[in-house]
Amino acid sequence: MATEYEPVIGLEIHAQLATRTKLFCACSIDFGGAPNSNVCPVCLGLPGTLPAINEKAVRLGVRAALALGCSIRQRSVFARKNYFYPDLPKGYQISQYELPFSEHGRLEVELDGASFTAGITRVHLEEDAGKNLHGIQGASAIDLNRAGTPLIEIVGDPDLRSSEQAAAYMRAVREVLMAIGVNDGNMEEGSFRCDANVSLRPQGSDRFGTRVELKNINSFKFVQRAIDVEIARQTAILDGGGQVQQETRSFDPSTSKTATLRSKEDAHDYRYFPDPDLPALEIDTATIERERSLVGELPEPRRQRYVREWSLTRAQASTLCQHPGTVEFFEDVLARFHEPVKVANFVLTEVLRGAKFHGLDAEFSVSPAQVAELLELVESAKISGKQAKEVLALVEAEPGASPRAIVQQRGLEVVSDAGALESILIDLMQKNPKQVASIRAGKTNVVGFFVGQVMKATNGSADPKLVSDLLTRLLAAPE
Ligand code: ADP
Ligand code: MG
Ligand code: ZN
Repeated sequence: MATEYEPVIGLEIHAQLATRTKLFCACSIDFGGAPNSNVCPVCLGLPGTLPAINEKAVRLGVRAALALGCSIRQRSVFARKNYFYPDLPKGYQISQYELPFSEHGRLEVELDGASFTAGITRVHLEEDAGKNLHGIQGASAIDLNRAGTPLIEIVGDPDLRSSEQAAAYMRAVREVLMAIGVNDGNMEEGSFRCDANVSLRPQGSDRFGTRVELKNINSFKFVQRAIDVEIARQTAILDGGGQVQQETRSFDPSTSKTATLRSKEDAHDYRYFPDPDLPALEIDTATIERERSLVGELPEPRRQRYVREWSLTRAQASTLCQHPGTVEFFEDVLARFHEPVKVANFVLTEVLRGAKFHGLDAEFSVSPAQVAELLELVESAKISGKQAKEVLALVEAEPGASPRAIVQQRGLEVVSDAGALESILIDLMQKNPKQVASIRAGKTNVVGFFVGQVMKATNGSADPKLVSDLLTRLLAAPE
């Protein structure tokens, strides 16, 4: 019988910190500028320059580490990671090595309606490299706008056991970082990406196999596919009696294949040493406590609370908690109109349709106050659910408009004035004696005919239940 293998997976996630400037200089980190427009002697690595730490980046890093359950090392050390690559102007990357600013965390991850916990080894600060551009007038060129961009690297424990778990973990980390305002989650622009380490071991073994590192994956779909492809490749090697080589591979989404980039360096290949240009990073208790107070409720516990306290479905809670802008919108409506299920239904089906998201920004076509007012009109039976959608469209077309005013101006209010409906009905009964006779003869389905006629006469604003009650009463009356 063939050996069954268990995959062992650990992710190293690189997340850009939501600062305005770089980690060790004042250059802007705006995306999309002309190549080499956001550079200075420091991030170009010119001789004689000195780095100076960006305090905002440190604070955001601390907030992220706390949200990921890590403990903070109050005196940590920046180290130089030496390697030669064209997009690395100094010939080394400033990172943290032996003494990172945080470690020993954990994260609760949702998968298929249940949750599991994954360990976080460490979170450290480091700078990003630049970007090689190929095929520029037949040559390769380098854009150093990204060089020096502040990142946190989140090194996960090798706790993941399937590609689905890995993708769910990556999703959960991104959601947390966005929820606390540390990262904009923009995967296409490279501000959130990961390296996936994959190894196999015989089912039941407690030792790890040799791992392969899959570099720079920037989508949930690709991380899952790349890992599946790598598991299949390693399985074939092991089944054939071979040995997996420790190496770094790249994943090509267009062919769904991985290919060797380089044989994996060990830490000693990087000749790490403490950066002599930077003092130890001191993080005081006040900073830690301030950042802790800014973490707030995290997406997974929030989802569970929505289900437990507010009776939302898991799927509803999930979608609402995917973006901090949606959470804020939903809870703002709820603060004005506390009917969680009704608000969730309306936000998920009607409001999200007109919403636009870019990074941490969310733009809605209506305001929470307008939605609350609209739902109150439905609740007090002033308008029907169907009319609420029409009013929503009118509010969207006229930003700032009051749903209540629109309903009044357009005479959209449900006609629940029994007197008005009764006189319409009496008129209809006189004009349709045959239908009246049919109902009297027991054909109750003809009631629908009258309800329909009244709806028509009132432009759909009559309360149908009231109409059929009135009709029953009128028919019961002696002729
Ligand atoms: P490096 O910094 O050289 O990449 P680390 O030991 O820091 O190496 O590990 C990096 C990542 O690799 C971590 O996310 C860890 O969980 C994962 N990892 C370590 N060993 C294995 C293994 N045998 N199989 C799968 N993943 C592993
Ligand atoms: Mg690594
Ligand atoms: Zn600079």
